[in-house]
Amino acid sequence: MDELHKIARAYYTTANEESKSQGRRFFNSIDHDRNRRITIQEYLPYMKRNGHTKMANRPFFEYLNESRTGELEFMEVMTLFYIIKSGRKLCDGCDGLLKGTFFSCTDCFDLDDESFNLCSECFTESSYVHPHKHFLDNYVILENMKVALAEREQEIRKMEAAMANHGVQNAGASDAIVLYNQRSRSSVFATVFQAVATAATAFSACTIM
Ligand SMILES: [Zn+2]
Ligand SMILES: [Zn+2]
Repeated sequence: MDELHKIARAYYTTANEESKSQGRRFFNSIDHDRNRRITIQEYLPYMKRNGHTKMANRPFFEYLNESRTGELEFMEVMTLFYIIKSGRKLCDGCDGLLKGTFFSCTDCFDLDDESFNLCSECFTESSYVHPHKHFLDNYVILENMKVALAEREQEIRKMEAAMANHGVQNAGASDAIVLYNQRSRSSVFATVFQAVATAATAFSACTIM
């Protein structure tokens, strides 16, 4: 069984009743004729109507249809539910679903809907058109997000301490608030990614020597 089908099955099996009924509502919203199976004639219009245009095609339907019956059964639709809900990305090079390790442009990472992601093959073979050059894999990104969040936590605590010492009306505290606002989630990530991307460039320069 494909990895994503396994993950989706594991989530569904262990989900609470509320989440399971969400899954059933999702299935019913696609299953127009209520026969408990989804045909491609039901699948395609649903996907297009809901803005999932990159997944609105026959190859993707066939990927979901692991049982090869030509119609999606309930658990196969739960894989789709998981893919949509978890915000799984498609490769911006080949449009394939990103299942394992993938590479993300560090300049575009913060732009939720416009992040630019590549499967290992497209990244390695440079099979893409994109103006930026700094990419990191999703595991490195996850680690750096943890570091960035920890740094931000620390900064918030410092700000809070400064505000408690000086009172919010005082000029020092309002400076602190401005600084706090400037250090938004995205700017923290952008700074971290910039640093890691620079380090990665230096590292590859070293290995060439
Ligand atoms: Zn690709
Ligand atoms: Zn980019």
